[in-house]
Amino acid sequence: GGDDNKEKVYKVGIDTTYPPFEFEESGEYKGIDIDIINEIAKSQGFKIELNPMDFGGIIPAMQAKELDVAIAGMSITDERKKVVDFSDPYFDAGLTLVVKKGTTDIKSLDDLKGKKVAVKKGTTGAKFATENAADKGYKVVQFNDSPAMFQEVANGNADVLLEDYPVIAYAIAQKDLGLEIAGDRLNGDQYGIAVLKGENQDLLEKINKGLKELKDSGKYDEILKTYLGE
Ligand code: GLN
Repeated sequence: GGDDNKEKVYKVGIDTTYPPFEFEESGEYKGIDIDIINEIAKSQGFKIELNPMDFGGIIPAMQAKELDVAIAGMSITDERKKVVDFSDPYFDAGLTLVVKKGTTDIKSLDDLKGKKVAVKKGTTGAKFATENAADKGYKVVQFNDSPAMFQEVANGNADVLLEDYPVIAYAIAQKDLGLEIAGDRLNGDQYGIAVLKGENQDLLEKINKGLKELKDSGKYDEILKTYLGE
């Protein structure tokens, strides 16, 4: 048939509420993740189409085969490895507590008794908060995206939120959100690019090859510099 020669276009799930990794600016998708996946697609010779969605919808969309790939500041976890395959890691992250500016009584998980903790659906932050809620005696409220979660704490409706350290540090440096980081980082993890489990093995190989080339050529560092500065 006429469609046999049609080149495959891989559908890539992204979370555009997540600067400096992914955001929309003047109708264009930008950020570290966007540059990485575009460069890999270019060097490895495959076509992609970016599909913005709430982070919590990305893995379900992959399982429903509506997406082939995800790059979304997505942390590599054992739980996710049951349903997707990850590329080699490309960025070190981890969770931190974030409070309304001027808050002095929250420095660690032990200070959260009776508090309201805001998280973003489907994230490592949501999982971490939920798992510790009973033990530490706090209540968890879930949001679809990071700006909604930030707003909730800035306006005092929730006491604290959990976010990836590099994301909240960037957001606070960019603009006064009325928020500040509280205490030490809670854990460490790494971001990876996800592909549908057990399928797309060729694609995964290309992604890892492209990632390695990006790092070896110095282009990866250039991308980081573009968004994070020196
Ligand atoms: N790194 C976190 C996770 O994988 C958050 C990702 C995000 O909010 N885009 O769950």
